[in-house]
Amino acid sequence: MTDAGRRPRVAVIGAGPGGYPAAFRAADLGFDVTLIDPEANPGGACLYRGCIPSKTLLHVAALLDESERAADWGVRFQRPEVDLDALRGWKDRVIARMTAGLGQLVRARNVRFVRGRARFADAHTLHVDTGDGADPAPIAFDYAVVATGSQPAAPPGLAADGARVMDSTSALALADVPSSLLVVGGGYIGLELGSVFAALGSRVTLVEMASGLLPGADRDLVRPLAQRLAGAFEEILLNTRVQTLRVEDDGVRVRLAGARLDDPARTFDRVLTAVGRRPTSDGLDLDKAGVECDARGFVQVDAQRRTTAPHIFAVGDVAGEPMLAHKATHEAHTAAAAMAGQPAVYEPHAVPAVVFTDPEIAWCGLTETQARDQRIPHQVARFPWAASGRATTLGRTDGLSKLVLEPRTDRVLGVGITGAGAGELIAEGVLAVEMGARAEDLRLSMHPHPTTSETLMEAAEVLYGASAHFLTNARR
Ligand code: FAD
Ligand code: NAD
Repeated sequence: MTDAGRRPRVAVIGAGPGGYPAAFRAADLGFDVTLIDPEANPGGACLYRGCIPSKTLLHVAALLDESERAADWGVRFQRPEVDLDALRGWKDRVIARMTAGLGQLVRARNVRFVRGRARFADAHTLHVDTGDGADPAPIAFDYAVVATGSQPAAPPGLAADGARVMDSTSALALADVPSSLLVVGGGYIGLELGSVFAALGSRVTLVEMASGLLPGADRDLVRPLAQRLAGAFEEILLNTRVQTLRVEDDGVRVRLAGARLDDPARTFDRVLTAVGRRPTSDGLDLDKAGVECDARGFVQVDAQRRTTAPHIFAVGDVAGEPMLAHKATHEAHTAAAAMAGQPAVYEPHAVPAVVFTDPEIAWCGLTETQARDQRIPHQVARFPWAASGRATTLGRTDGLSKLVLEPRTDRVLGVGITGAGAGELIAEGVLAVEMGARAEDLRLSMHPHPTTSETLMEAAEVLYGASAHFLTNARR
């Protein structure tokens, strides 16, 4: 309660996986909460144009791929027919169901939802632009949370026009299936959405300016995916950039600049740019509230996610990398607890990363690349999925599980997994790292058979030269 005897007021700007959990947790903690977002219901980029629509389509892509692969197992399907209108409808229904559910939770918690765009008038007041000419009363707050997310980066010359040159948002609208598609960027979005369009029938060419896909991820984890995509995509061009891009009536003329290019001039039906995202910190008049950003536009925050104005917090994509939904939510819970005076800080040891391709790639904690680059003493225990019974039954031996361990103590510092369902399996790795588990703990915990979860236990067994199915001792 404030001096005036009323509940302290919290204004949350943005209702994505950073904003709505901040609002919900603050309401649960007894604050008087207002949540502001331009959409009719909470969801943010993740639900409306990110995680959820992309994973809905990736599930369908996996089904299409699997139906082809089944021929090897003696089951032949007729060539599947994709009804694009129905597929788009299914994706939209998934989004509608989830965002409507969040709308109900807003009402159930008595959170006030204001539809519009907020900006700071001063350090304790917001103005909201409703977009319909109405001028709602300013919103006064004791605490605020900036959770305005991010948007696709549009480097000069690569800006999306929505039709021929798409970003992730227009690609997920699924207007049609391009006959040929150039994907610019071999990161999360390029690989996930490139996989969707390849499965739907597009001839996909991917250009990545770095020397490998998913720069930053361990190479042994990326290799099985790179091999698979070499078959699914028309071409993958590394060390390559788009030099010029010209939209014409019949397609997009592109000139590429790269290390090994026979023909730098190409024409594509469509282009998808996926070269990163930038924080949505402009247009908020943050300076009027004393909130400062760094040179890249991320709002500066401390360990409790307080900004340079201590009663204003920032969480999610706008508060820094990695730009992941679960990181946004975790920060939101920290900020709400800090507001309530609880001793909360955001200091995870293991933020999981999952690329939902086929195979999936997942990792958490210290990567082998980081350990090597930062000269952190470590040892690695690997278990190849070719030795996994479950992976064999699935016809998916193209996987790898590995533990990055502290020498002497055998403490699990990081976990990396490539393979079907790696995104689900990595949760065990997160728990192991956060709990300070040792390889021995993974080895002695019984894992159900036959499952791919056994590959983590067997990686630990490899460390002790005790794996039944893979005869290598990581210590040798
Ligand atoms: P957002 O979800 O971007 O939400 C911010 C909200 O604030 C938006 O609704 C925006 O309209 C609103 N807003 C902006 N300015 C204002 C204002 N002035 N006033 C009021 N409201 C405002 N992450 C994962 O962890 N897993 C995935 O599988 C995954 N897949 C992705 C796929 C794609 C194609 C994309 C683009 C992203 C994906 N991400 C994924 C990233 C994930 O979407 C983001 O990390 C996450 O949405 C960040 O949450 P947030 O709350 O910080 O911001
Ligand atoms: P990204 O940072 O993952 O990848 C961008 C890639 O583009 C990099 O590999 C970079 O080297 C390359 N690149 C940059 N400029 C280029 C150029 N001019 N020519 C060729 N290549 C170029 O960014 P993204 O794929 O746009 O995704 C943005 C963010 O959204 C991700 O970093 C992630 O945080 C989030 N996201 C997460 C998921 C998930 O969790 N599964 C899925 C999608 C998006």
